Amino acid sequence: MKIAILGAGISGLALARFLIDGGHEPSDIDLFESGSKAGGLCHSKTVDGFTYDISGGHILFSKDAEALQWMKDQGGGDDSFVKRDRNTKIRFGDHWVHYPFENGIGDLPPQANLDCLKGYIEAWHERTAEGTSAPGDFKAWIQWRFGDGIAKHFMDPYNEKIWKRELDQISSGWVAGRVPDAPIEDVLKAAIGMRTEGYTHQAIFYYPKQGGFQAITDHLAASMTERIQLSTPITHLKREGEVWKVNGAPYDCVVSTIPLTHMPKIVEGMPVDVAAAMTGLEYNSMVTFLLALDREKHPDLSWIYLPHADQGPTNRVTYMSNYSPGNAPEGKTSFLCEVTVPGGVPAPGASLEREVIDGMVHAGLVKKDEIMFADRSDVGHAYVVFDHDFDRKRAVSLDWLESSGLFPLGRFGRFDYDNSDQCVIKARSLAAELLARAARG
Ligand SMILES: Cc1cc2nc3c(=O)[nH]c(=O)nc-3n(C[C@H](O)[C@H](O)[C@H](O)COP(=O)(O)OP(=O)(O)OC[C@H]3O[C@@H](n4cnc5c(N)ncnc54)[C@H](O)[C@@H]3O)c2cc1C
Repeated sequence: MKIAILGAGISGLALARFLIDGGHEPSDIDLFESGSKAGGLCHSKTVDGFTYDISGGHILFSKDAEALQWMKDQGGGDDSFVKRDRNTKIRFGDHWVHYPFENGIGDLPPQANLDCLKGYIEAWHERTAEGTSAPGDFKAWIQWRFGDGIAKHFMDPYNEKIWKRELDQISSGWVAGRVPDAPIEDVLKAAIGMRTEGYTHQAIFYYPKQGGFQAITDHLAASMTERIQLSTPITHLKREGEVWKVNGAPYDCVVSTIPLTHMPKIVEGMPVDVAAAMTGLEYNSMVTFLLALDREKHPDLSWIYLPHADQGPTNRVTYMSNYSPGNAPEGKTSFLCEVTVPGGVPAPGASLEREVIDGMVHAGLVKKDEIMFADRSDVGHAYVVFDHDFDRKRAVSLDWLESSGLFPLGRFGRFDYDNSDQCVIKARSLAAELLARAARG
């Protein structure tokens, strides 16, 4: 069974590795990658000794211990990674607020603390005593779940910054299982200054010692270089009888990690309604800025959130040099600032860098004379956006691909809000399915 894998990000690379390790003949697998190197969203970049992850700071963690170990093994083994405690905070004016926000309200100025506590109790009472069910739109969901204080001081401004849309345009479906529900006792304790932990899932994470997060995909790609065709965009897919023609070459099986929004231009003969569903899927792009700093040491933080407009367009800042000593030259440090942009819209030009830096200065995070240089990266597909028609558009898209014998995989190949470990888990199960098919002939 000749298999074509479209895209050599972590999903495509992991799939190829699992297939080969499962006994599939390597010469029957071809990976096609439009970029000049493998890695996709896991890319990192090094400039003058400063390394950063171009799609925002990436950490390695997973609830699936096997997948986590597999990624470490593929990335050079345990000794190639540093282990870090997650320490994240929210910058609120000149205050530092413990994350998650509801576990940190005691760090707020008194009036904001009171607003948040009062709103939380009122919302909790409505939810539990009156039994109201979760609203379908995200704006109403925030009120329902956190109350108006947390909505006003954190959730609304932060989410407007990241999603770049009115929050009532977004469905609340995606938050299930993503935003943990803090027990009321924890919020009460937090308000009077008793520390509670909250979200413990990523309490510890791993990061490659050298080369940025991309070290994982670099190692994976190096284990099968002869199977990867770089700088080879797939521009044409056509079904002919039992086979799919990939840029003219026949394959028995095609797995695509290419963003669904690109597929209508590539696949010949796609029905109009399916093409409309795919191109209608919404996403956000991203611009990241590395700030290389002439600063010897950062506080012990992993990343922070900047919810407010006067902090500039950045929504999250990673303390990139804290992830690994390999990420900055000795005696220097770095920040990585993330800015989202609506997908399909041209990203802001050179003025964005100035706005980011001014915001960081205003937030009290950096002084201009500490910045040695800034480096910008643009990422086309960064976040899946869950508008109210998302489930239908995604189902129409995936149903058609699967019924046509094309296997969609990956964060934008399936429009799943997945981290790299989940990409690996899905690649592992697809590999098992394809190996079983190949065995059946
Ligand atoms: C802001 C942000 C923070 C994140 N943080 C984390 C984190 O901390 N930890 C974590 O594990 N994950 C994190 N992720 C998620 C992680 O980056 C992704 O889940 C993962 O990299 C997706 O891999 P993929 O292979 O599915 O897709 P991609 O990496 O997008 O790979 C698709 C590949 O297809 C190629 N391609 C596109 N079109 C064509 C074509 N026509 N022909 C051939 N090739 C093509 C692309 O060049 C790309 O290499 C984060 C993502 C973002 C945006």
